[in-house]
Amino acid sequence: MKIGILTSGGDAPGMNACLRAVVRTTIHYGHEAYGIYDGYKGLVENKIKQLDRNDVGQILNRGGTILGSSRLPSFKEKAVRQIAIDHLKTWGIEALVVIGGDGTYRGAMALSEMGLKVIAIPGTIDNDIASTEYTIGFFTALDTAIDAIDKLRDTSFSHQRCTVVEVMGRDCGDLSIYSGIACGAEIVITKETGFDPENVLMQVKKAEEMHKRHLIVVVAENITNVFELAENIGKHSHYTARATVLGYIQRGGQPSSYDRILASKMGVHAAELLIKGESGYAIYTKSMEIGHCPIAEALNAQDEVTDLYQYLNKLN
Ligand code: ATP
Repeated sequence: MKIGILTSGGDAPGMNACLRAVVRTTIHYGHEAYGIYDGYKGLVENKIKQLDRNDVGQILNRGGTILGSSRLPSFKEKAVRQIAIDHLKTWGIEALVVIGGDGTYRGAMALSEMGLKVIAIPGTIDNDIASTEYTIGFFTALDTAIDAIDKLRDTSFSHQRCTVVEVMGRDCGDLSIYSGIACGAEIVITKETGFDPENVLMQVKKAEEMHKRHLIVVVAENITNVFELAENIGKHSHYTARATVLGYIQRGGQPSSYDRILASKMGVHAAELLIKGESGYAIYTKSMEIGHCPIAEALNAQDEVTDLYQYLNKLN
């Protein structure tokens, strides 16, 4: 059996560890593994190469994805996907593992509906795939955000500032609320909390009344302009307010221990499913166990809001 593998959408630490696991498991059972470069775009452009076990050596601890990633909006068109399927047929590749976020899952679903055997693995720092408790890359990105906010805290305290930090997570506030709790933020603003500028000012006032020397406000991306928010806080309180956007630094770096293990387990599970003749599944983790459900079910799953929000007020 020939199994192809690609990484797609935003890169995430641990994608390489997962690639390694898929390739080595495939070869372990006597099959062939093929790397597809630059996501669905590379699939359409026929950028495919057979990988042996040594090709995925020395990558377990590397951030990013050695296969490369991309975004290809035209992959939503059936004719474009047909080109991809035709390339796979020419190579004799009958099954595909894709690692990425929900957009990548939609691509996988569409390929599966066209008859291709596909397994999808959650690889994104946003943790925005509802069917899995955690995605590959989330905890590494969280550690990066925590490290940065800890550093901002030092200078925030020295200068009696209100430090506003924008954290990644386009459609899911998990990186913000997890880093907010881990860094002792006074205020966390996400899609889940909603954003009311008056309420934020009230909370800042409350911090003033409590004689807090400084405070930290964590804001998820795409909620508001953090520079304007900081300016507004500065105008209406005694704090000097400064905003910092953490940005793409959160995407890089060596995967954490958890992400390496999660990625390895998910990769093995995905390859074994395909080898057993099963397909159309999305891999998930729940309570440290690895499982799988139909990709359609993963796409329709309802996001459960983490209970961490309840802790914020009590800890302040
Ligand atoms: P992240 O959220 O971490 O950036 P993602 O996988 O959600 O990861 P997207 O850019 O949304 O990133 O999706 C990756 C690719 O999946 C898209 O560039 C596109 O090629 C493909 N894709 C997205 N939606 C669909 C769809 N409805 N049908 C087919 N392909 C799709």
